[in-house]
Amino acid sequence: MTPASGPSASTGVPGDGVARGGGIVALGRWWREAVAEPILSVLFPPRCVGCGDFESHLCPRCRASLVPIDGDCCPRCGEPGPRPLVAGRCSQCMGVDLAFSGARSAFAHTGSARRVVVEFKSGGQPVLAPLMAELARPAFRELVSSLDAGDRLVVTWVPSHRAAQRQRGYNQAELFARALASGPPIVHRSELVRKTVRTRHQKELGRGGRQANLRGAFAVDDKAVASLPFRPAAVVLVDDVYTTGATAQEVAAVLSRGAGVPVYVFTFSRAVSARSEGHD
Ligand SMILES: [Zn+2]
Ligand SMILES: [Zn+2]
Repeated sequence: MTPASGPSASTGVPGDGVARGGGIVALGRWWREAVAEPILSVLFPPRCVGCGDFESHLCPRCRASLVPIDGDCCPRCGEPGPRPLVAGRCSQCMGVDLAFSGARSAFAHTGSARRVVVEFKSGGQPVLAPLMAELARPAFRELVSSLDAGDRLVVTWVPSHRAAQRQRGYNQAELFARALASGPPIVHRSELVRKTVRTRHQKELGRGGRQANLRGAFAVDDKAVASLPFRPAAVVLVDDVYTTGATAQEVAAVLSRGAGVPVYVFTFSRAVSARSEGHD
């Protein structure tokens, strides 16, 4: 297993808020990228999270086994297609009160995709964020171009509670979102929602329990919304995995109410069976 390289595994491109710390941050990044990471990669060469082979975080064989979710999924709830749609909805989301205007995931949450998410989130491997962004980019690009929001698009992410983030050392959704939005296409990124209550792990709960567990746990960061350099036409809410959709639903509800903009959900993977294996 590759040693954790900390939350700074984010891309840290100018304008994403990471570089704001100035010289010290830049020096820290230089040290990490030019000195620490090359040394660590010799001492601890990356291993494939799918099969354990050395040399890369995901070997060509495991990469080829990923199951992409194509653009013919339901544009509203994100269920993989092809699916007959009536008024833009499939049988899965027809009549369901969804807080988000659309959802899209890059891969089915199975096999290698599931291993990547588990190692990224629970295996202390924030270093996987750029790889996940690279793999998910075609689906992300399709979502962005379908929104037709031009330059007035903002990427945000499902926040984690401060205490949980301290424990893990990073918020995996944030790292993935920042890597994804660093382009192409480059999209403005900002943390627009805070998690104000530390909740139980979603995977311990059933569908109803998941929703109740999250109720009231998130709040819009009004200051962050007010300090956006433009009024967004849409916000893309990024998370690592979509399981029952309870998290996406709760955060999107808070966000669309608080920021007054349509919210679209994007995740690396999506559970395609009724069984949930992820956090939510
Ligand atoms: Zn492999
Ligand atoms: Zn649907």
